[in-house]
Amino acid sequence: MRNWALIFSLGSFLLPNNSGAWGFEPHRRINQHACHILPSPLYGFYKTHLSYMMQHATDADMRRYVDTLEAGKHFIDVEHYGFIVDSIPTDYLKAEKQFGKSHLQNEGNLPWNIIRCVYGLKKAFSEGQIHYILRVSADLGHYVADAHVPLHTTENYNGQLSGQKGIHGLWETRIPDLFMDTLLVPLQPMAFRENWVGDIWNTIKNSHQLVPLVLARELETRSSIPENQWYGFEQRKNKVEKTYSQTYVNTYYTLLDGMVEAQFVSSSQLLADLIFTAWVMAGEPDLSQLNAIDTNAQNPNSSNIPHEDLNCDH
Ligand SMILES: [Zn+2]
Repeated sequence: MRNWALIFSLGSFLLPNNSGAWGFEPHRRINQHACHILPSPLYGFYKTHLSYMMQHATDADMRRYVDTLEAGKHFIDVEHYGFIVDSIPTDYLKAEKQFGKSHLQNEGNLPWNIIRCVYGLKKAFSEGQIHYILRVSADLGHYVADAHVPLHTTENYNGQLSGQKGIHGLWETRIPDLFMDTLLVPLQPMAFRENWVGDIWNTIKNSHQLVPLVLARELETRSSIPENQWYGFEQRKNKVEKTYSQTYVNTYYTLLDGMVEAQFVSSSQLLADLIFTAWVMAGEPDLSQLNAIDTNAQNPNSSNIPHEDLNCDH
């Protein structure tokens, strides 16, 4: 079970803006990129509501403060499910029967949660509920992005088991903070995902396979830089905060050899594909009338939508 309080407290010391997931800006950018590669008529709809998709990209993280069931939706500790992703039931009910409900809550249920969101989005499209479509789309983007962070798939999520505390924010927040512009590479056109459930699980599998490399490259970074150059201080708004030095982040980023970019791009790609797939599964409904609704006027605070509304029928 994850000690999010520890990550949050580290976040306030070493890792500014670390919300226990991709930083705020990467989540916004991933949602933004996905919208840009959607085909018409989805493109028009999401372009109209691009600011919503970006502004609400981290709502899911905020809910962790008020909803004890939310935390488990952002990760899966693969080691606590038998170590082998392919052996984990892809169906939630089968997994619940095998492991028990509390196990899924404590050890993480991220892939099943993404599947649930896709079904929720399909339902929202079918019913033409604009707020529901946008809310689930923004959340789907968040969870898909989390699934691409290798440290969201392991019990050693913050390097606490390998003497590498702080690596979580280093990988997913500090690197994007400094290299966001290089992460913005062109995406492929979106595609319908016939085996979208399998693709979600393959994402988890791929992320988990990257964990040893994420850890090893950080150890190499340490050994190549004198300890007194590991950290520096940066001005954040009106506070001076201790954080990983630029030299440290540069070295780690270089040693990762494109991993962060690849995961960033894959996040946007999978999100676009899943939105398109949900829309196709819903019967490709006409969204043109929905464009007329002013989302901000109708729904200034997405948290007004009860969380139960995200439940789907599958
Ligand atoms: Zn998250």
